[in-house]
Amino acid sequence: MKFINDLNLKKQASDLGIKVWQTPGFLFIMMGVVAAIAMTGTYYMSKNYDDPQLLVIAESAVAITILIIGNVIVGIVEQVTNLNKAKSEFVSVASHQLRTPLSAIRWETELLLTKMKKGLTEKQISNIENIAEQSRKMARLVNDLLDVARIDQDRLILRHVSVDIGRISEEAVKSLAPILKAKGIGLAFSSSRKSAKVLGDPEKIRMVIENLLGNASKYTINEGKIEVKVSQKDGSVVFSVKDNGVGIPKEQQKRIFEKFFRSDNIVKYQTEGTGLGLYIAKNVIEQLGGNIEFDSVEGLGTIFSFSLPAARHE
Ligand code: ADP
Repeated sequence: MKFINDLNLKKQASDLGIKVWQTPGFLFIMMGVVAAIAMTGTYYMSKNYDDPQLLVIAESAVAITILIIGNVIVGIVEQVTNLNKAKSEFVSVASHQLRTPLSAIRWETELLLTKMKKGLTEKQISNIENIAEQSRKMARLVNDLLDVARIDQDRLILRHVSVDIGRISEEAVKSLAPILKAKGIGLAFSSSRKSAKVLGDPEKIRMVIENLLGNASKYTINEGKIEVKVSQKDGSVVFSVKDNGVGIPKEQQKRIFEKFFRSDNIVKYQTEGTGLGLYIAKNVIEQLGGNIEFDSVEGLGTIFSFSLPAARHE
């Protein structure tokens, strides 16, 4: 399948934003053609001509052609790398700039809702609450984009302090409980009595846990069931969340940790989501020396889990 895709030069060119003759597929075909012509030519010349000068000229022509093609490939790789860098920088600057007006909106709405609530009608209060909720969502998106830019530029700095995964999970489960109850989804939480402390960044680990729980909730339809577990295994603390929701189609599972990826089966009914949560989660957990994985069957459910090395001293 990938081989067939590689041969679709027009698609490759439009995906990469370059001309057809610059696509890797085209350049490799050209290299192959040049190598084949060179071999046939050398054979033909060595058979028919004794003049070594002619052979040297022919070989030099082939070497120069290959050098030119190689140079074009290096140029394209450089171009793509620079574009990628510029894109990450743009995302980073734009997100930083968005933070200030967003904070202002949040401050103002909070002020209206706390200090000036008396003079407002119910409709006005509900409108302001809506603005506050939308700006909270936007702030989360901006923070996610900033994290993605930091990851892409190798600038994600994580703290290494003692973090109790059991406690964070319990808190996250408690705050999700009312939403699940309203959706008619059952929730079970279990945590072993042993300490579940790891060395890591509390805010980021909380973010990962909230994302995994949030996904289980978003992608489980009514009458579902979610089980959250914190345990210890082979010197690691393991967090897992299991749902009996919509699952992830088998052929899309290898792309699940990609930036902005959302599977086909959910985009139809769940418009809320950016496809950034798992990308950030994987990078955070791996940067802390851990591992994140999942198992899913479409239509039956999904289990996501991560493990982090347990802290040695408490
Ligand atoms: P988002 O949920 O914002 O779209 P994520 O990065 O958290 O982004 O998840 C990426 C994708 O992985 C989701 O869009 C969905 O297709 C799939 N996914 C994640 N968790 C689950 C789950 N528990 N059940 C089914 N699909 C899931």
